[in-house]
Amino acid sequence: MLVGLVSDIHSNLEALEAVLAHMGPTDVLWCLGDLVGYGPNPNECVDLVRRRAGLAVHGNHDLAAVGLLSTADFNPEAAAAIQWTARQLGPKAAAYLSALPEKLVQGEITLAHGSPRYPVWEYVFSRAVARANFDHFQNRVCLVGHTHVPLVFIQDVRTGRVEEQYMEDGQVLDLSDTRWRFIANPGSVGQPRDRDPRASYAVIDTGAHTMTWHRVEYDVDAVQAKILRAGLPRWLAERLRWGT
Ligand code: ZN
Repeated sequence: MLVGLVSDIHSNLEALEAVLAHMGPTDVLWCLGDLVGYGPNPNECVDLVRRRAGLAVHGNHDLAAVGLLSTADFNPEAAAAIQWTARQLGPKAAAYLSALPEKLVQGEITLAHGSPRYPVWEYVFSRAVARANFDHFQNRVCLVGHTHVPLVFIQDVRTGRVEEQYMEDGQVLDLSDTRWRFIANPGSVGQPRDRDPRASYAVIDTGAHTMTWHRVEYDVDAVQAKILRAGLPRWLAERLRWGT
């Protein structure tokens, strides 16, 4: 079975459409949260995920946009975009976001937006945080988003030791060896932050036991123009150019 993985779409329709076109047909699509926030097309992105994704979990921006999380801990640009998004969201999209779970387990794989320990807020960015989180899911693979960086933490099940690996376009992770457990991030579709502006996603092949990362160019100029036209903070347009 081929499982397409998208995360942190952030209302960037051009990036999401480019990713789905590049991905081609998969058996299922899973979404790791933050469908909205920052970008100019929240309803269109939610609608596309709602129609395509077999499984999805919520992210902090999704919860804030439907009033289920305070924006007090958001930076000013993110909070401004949440207020704007909340005004734009139609009832169907809001209902979909409100109903998303915070964590899912599907066979060998756990899905959470931030981390399995604290799904809404925790960033798995260091080996210390990853090591603690390996105790918070039972199976071998946990998929997360939230950092917007295509990064994998690999735990040796005998020693508990954790290594990290940044994943580049076309890179394949072998999930078959039961001596290892994984916390893996497919990267961000709509706002990459690893200084590569191309949209990021991954595909798991459950038969071959592999996870493969991909990067895709999309029309950044068009999204930047829409962000500025909507009156969203200028920085949210600029950062898409640099992948920061
Ligand atoms: Zn995000």
